[in-house]
Amino acid sequence: MTRVFSGIKPTGHLTLGNYLGAMRRWAEVDQHQADALFCVVDLHALTVDHDPARVRRLSRQAATLLLAAGLDPQRCTVFVQSHVDEHTRLSYLLECVATDGEMRRMIQYKEKAARERERGGSVRLSLLTYPVLMAADILAYGTDEVPVGDDQAQHVELARDLAVRFNQRYGHTFVVPRATHPKVAARVMNLQDPTSKMGKSEDSGPGIVYLLDEPDVVRKKIMRAVTDTGSDVVYDRDARPGPANLLEILAACEGRSPEELSGAYTSYGALKKDTAEAVVEVLRPVQERHRALCADPAHVDQVLRTGAERARGMARPLVDTAYRAIGLLPGV
Ligand code: ATP
Ligand code: MG
Repeated sequence: MTRVFSGIKPTGHLTLGNYLGAMRRWAEVDQHQADALFCVVDLHALTVDHDPARVRRLSRQAATLLLAAGLDPQRCTVFVQSHVDEHTRLSYLLECVATDGEMRRMIQYKEKAARERERGGSVRLSLLTYPVLMAADILAYGTDEVPVGDDQAQHVELARDLAVRFNQRYGHTFVVPRATHPKVAARVMNLQDPTSKMGKSEDSGPGIVYLLDEPDVVRKKIMRAVTDTGSDVVYDRDARPGPANLLEILAACEGRSPEELSGAYTSYGALKKDTAEAVVEVLRPVQERHRALCADPAHVDQVLRTGAERARGMARPLVDTAYRAIGLLPGV
């Protein structure tokens, strides 16, 4: 059976981008078709300036939202990265296979490091090495497929390269994984700046729809989305990024294609109105389940405990094999 692994960082409140680009497919497709693991990758949230209490709160919220989005612990494994030591154990071995040049070429490193510097902060070493830990997250489970938004393509490519290199040097150990992306909404853009990605760690603002936004807040944000001075509704991501983003969001919500939808609208106002209502309807059941789960925190704890045990059982033998392959003395 195909092994699937993916994760989400507790760096902020989860967004519509996280949902349409990743979580929705995990719930609707992956958990039914594959042996799937989904992880709140909390160690990755420590790579930028962080408040410990907030990270803890966001980790819980992310885990709760994964379940609210429809992940069923009977069908898949849901857990928190820091509960399974194998991720950091393997990460060190992979640091001995990766090069510093590879890390410095990562687009997200360049962007996030620039942002930290703009804010007057220093850049944590862990921000540079983050893609190695992510490779460890993936490789520790013998993962075949990594369902992610397309901003993560470069990181999954690195995981592939490290797996191949490790296998060549030290003998076949790791499965070489591949990224999968949704057909539409693989990169939801910020509503106020449709040339940049909607990201949960951006400063919160009117351009980001959060999964827990009230319906009226969602409507207001989408109605105020930046479009352009054109008067026709055309799907062209490069030339018309604002309308294209709305068309993609609507298409993803309705299971249609943005090209097909563009022909159905003659004004931005109508497109925005329908997009807003479609998003409100997509978020409604997630928000309802989230409310119910918040009333039962012991259930979420239990899911995470069981998930961590299961994940540990899967990762440990493979990571132990990697330890021996790379030249470490087996424990006595
Ligand atoms: P951060 O700003 O901290 O990087 P993020 O919103 O990018 O936060 P991640 O935790 O890095 O979220 O990513 C979780 C998953 O959501 C990944 O699969 C990622 O590709 C996907 N994702 C994130 N943002 C978007 C987006 N705007 N559109 C589509 N998918 C997205
Ligand atoms: Mg991200």
